[in-house]
Amino acid sequence: MAKRERKVVVIGAGSVGTSYIYALLQTGMAEEVALIDLDRGRVEGEVMDLSHGLQFIPPVRIKAGEYEDCADASMIVVTAGAKQAPGQSRADLIRTNAKIVTAICDQISRYPSEAILVMVTNPVDTLTQVALERLGWPRQRVIGSGTVLDTARFKFMLSRHCGIDARNVHAYIIGEHGDSEVAAWSLSHVAGIPIGDYCKICGVCDSSRYRKQIAEQVRDSAYHIIDYKGSTYYGIGLSLVRISGAILRNENSVLTVSTLLQGEYGIHGICLSVPCIVGDHGVVRIIDAQLASDEQEALTHSAQAIGKTLATVRQAPTPIA
Ligand code: NAD
Repeated sequence: MAKRERKVVVIGAGSVGTSYIYALLQTGMAEEVALIDLDRGRVEGEVMDLSHGLQFIPPVRIKAGEYEDCADASMIVVTAGAKQAPGQSRADLIRTNAKIVTAICDQISRYPSEAILVMVTNPVDTLTQVALERLGWPRQRVIGSGTVLDTARFKFMLSRHCGIDARNVHAYIIGEHGDSEVAAWSLSHVAGIPIGDYCKICGVCDSSRYRKQIAEQVRDSAYHIIDYKGSTYYGIGLSLVRISGAILRNENSVLTVSTLLQGEYGIHGICLSVPCIVGDHGVVRIIDAQLASDEQEALTHSAQAIGKTLATVRQAPTPIA
């Protein structure tokens, strides 16, 4: 079946899936949204609730979906699975969620599809790779939300620190969406000026002292939010809208999605986040930038951490029905 230009299938009707849909519908980017979850009653309820707001937003169809909806979808967004409990790391979720993702991929595979699959379920880098291997699709079509959210948090915190609009701050968190993620200061710019040079002009603080603190705040954000309110969903929902825009509108945006590296940054055979150009074919190009040597070392360490999590899955997964 031919791919429809703006059809999105969302698998997982929990807090993340529904926050994403709620934000996506308001943009008018999608023509049709199909929602799938093991809990069919929940899907029916969410579809009814969202449909009652349709008269206030640009035209869109929203429905309770089936896996056959994947056949003509442009994007499949996977948010199904267990979420982090307070104090639990993303890597701890792996056994449960690898089984869920494997089962979902087997369902998707029943219908030939040209969609771009966006993995969101944690640990997202490992599960992007599980999905990529299970589906057997080209690497550019199976990507993870990766550190798009962490990058947004980084830009927010830098913009607040500098007192400058976040849209004038360019900076990236790369590597694992998790404890080993890396703040790529060498790629960071404020007002188009490399951040180290900008700090010399600004002169307000000792920049070497705040870097560690900001990177730690970014890394630990999810833990704090989970402690306060149980889970995170609005930030990731909006991050997914940004990724969706890049794909559905073929924007060729530079986003830190998780993608399989095959030699870029000296890393082979691991999905993690680095700046990528994202368009309607998924990852169109991986930007193989030169990092500072300590950042490259940290990125290599991050890849090793993901590799260890991946090894625990490769010993395990038995698909569940
Ligand atoms: P949630 O518990 O609210 O919802 C999960 C949903 O998945 C439930 O509705 C459940 O019925 C459904 N589900 C479980 N197994 C399924 C299956 N086999 N098929 C279809 N549906 C199934 O959880 P949430 O808060 O929405 O979080 C979802 C995932 O997103 C978690 O893994 C969480 O850690 C992750 N997350 C990722 C990021 C990121 O940046 N990548 C950010 C926040 C949350």
